[in-house]
Amino acid sequence: MAAPAPAARSAQRIKAHIAFLADDLLQGRETGTPGFDIAAAYVASQLAQIGVKPGAADGSYFQQVPMSGFRSADEGKLLLTPKGGAATPLVFGEDYVPGRNPLSPTTHVSAPLVFVGYGVVGGDRDDYAGLDVKGKIVVALAGAPASLQTEERAYYASGRTKRLAAEARGAAGFMSINTPADEVRRPFDGAVRSWKSWGVTWRDGAGKPFSPAGSTPDLASISVKGAQKIFAGAPQSFADVVKAAEAGTPPRFVLPASLDATLNTELKSVQSANVVGLIPGSDPKLKNEVIVLSAHLDHVGITSPVKGDSINNGAMDNASGVATTLEVARAFAEGKRPRRTLMFLLNTGEEKGLVGADYFARNPPTSWPIVANVNLDMPVLTYDFTDVVAFGAERSTLGPAVQRAAARSGVKLSADPMPQEGLFTRSDHFRFVEQGVPSVFLMTGFANGGEAAFTTFLRDHYHKPSDDLSQPIDYAAGAKFAAINYEITRELADADKAPTWNKGDFFGTLFGKKR
Ligand SMILES: [Zn+2]
Repeated sequence: MAAPAPAARSAQRIKAHIAFLADDLLQGRETGTPGFDIAAAYVASQLAQIGVKPGAADGSYFQQVPMSGFRSADEGKLLLTPKGGAATPLVFGEDYVPGRNPLSPTTHVSAPLVFVGYGVVGGDRDDYAGLDVKGKIVVALAGAPASLQTEERAYYASGRTKRLAAEARGAAGFMSINTPADEVRRPFDGAVRSWKSWGVTWRDGAGKPFSPAGSTPDLASISVKGAQKIFAGAPQSFADVVKAAEAGTPPRFVLPASLDATLNTELKSVQSANVVGLIPGSDPKLKNEVIVLSAHLDHVGITSPVKGDSINNGAMDNASGVATTLEVARAFAEGKRPRRTLMFLLNTGEEKGLVGADYFARNPPTSWPIVANVNLDMPVLTYDFTDVVAFGAERSTLGPAVQRAAARSGVKLSADPMPQEGLFTRSDHFRFVEQGVPSVFLMTGFANGGEAAFTTFLRDHYHKPSDDLSQPIDYAAGAKFAAINYEITRELADADKAPTWNKGDFFGTLFGKKR
């Protein structure tokens, strides 16, 4: 029998990687579990086998990431005191679910309430204008104005961004309130069901858990029912506030009430590692610049059973992205050396809030600057794709580079088919963006059956035990995706100039000066 063609061999390797990583033995690769550590050992062994050097600072393949786990220890206690009235407790599970504080097992804040609309500060918008929130508890609507560009809106809607704005103005605590529309999209029942789940953050050299806006703790998420109690006697009713918010500009005012909040948080230590491989650049100058290819290795572990299966194998999320990255690494290790230095990051903690990538981007195991990140997360490989989507491509010179590479592979680069999802802010590359690094997030596109494949995946398999090998995985499509990613990386590694943000780009302007 003739030897298989290179593409067929590549497809076989991708199949082998996904089969190992999605095996039940790995128990869903949750951060901090032995299953994740087995996956990390496998990936490190593969990198060694194909001749990719260890990339961690200690000379190993493992960048240790010290982490802290945190969850609510109990239902907490929220006492609302209307002006001139008696204190009444808000009801757990009906009015609120408690926040969690990674910095302390007990949190007590007692202060007047100020409503800041969406709590967005940026561009020419300042939802705090004219309000003094120093020492007060800030109450903000969930989400952000619909008039904002979708990716900017996702950034402003995040709790992290909002709490940082509240902290900068001296707020003592923060609460987010749902609108009726929020509760149609994400029923409050869901928040009630998962109130006991663990959050994870990384710890710094002194062992302190990282908590953005640590002096303005997240006290609670408030339901529509709870909001009605909080807005009782306010200058405008909650219903009127919601109506104005839907039109774009909610009012903002001091609420005639104060809150006494007590939270108890259970803390635990978690240890995990990013796997890092390195291919040194060949150019005497350009080798001092680093391109990072990333794909998260962790997944969501074990959850309550669906049809008797409780192991979330994460074949597409993200064994497929890891397998693709290993194939790109192999192609570079066996082929012509890149001019710039390449780092391959198979990271931990993505499903916990992009924690491993955040740690890596803030503590890169190299003194050379990272000039670009290409991230692969959940490429759906169940069909023969004919286009790819590069989220964020229009923001930097990475766009034209991806376009040229895709064209060489006979594949089209398409625009974001789901702008309403704000996906550019939702995977690991965004932690590089926050450090000023031009980045793209690459996925298989909607053409040639892609839209149906993607929709089916999201509906039936995303973060479910059925994201496993029983899906109709097209391993040849996997080989093709690896070939395109090789071309993209080649383009970035060998170009005379490092990628740059486009002039005036929103994220480039916000973070680019950090570089
Ligand atoms: Zn996921």
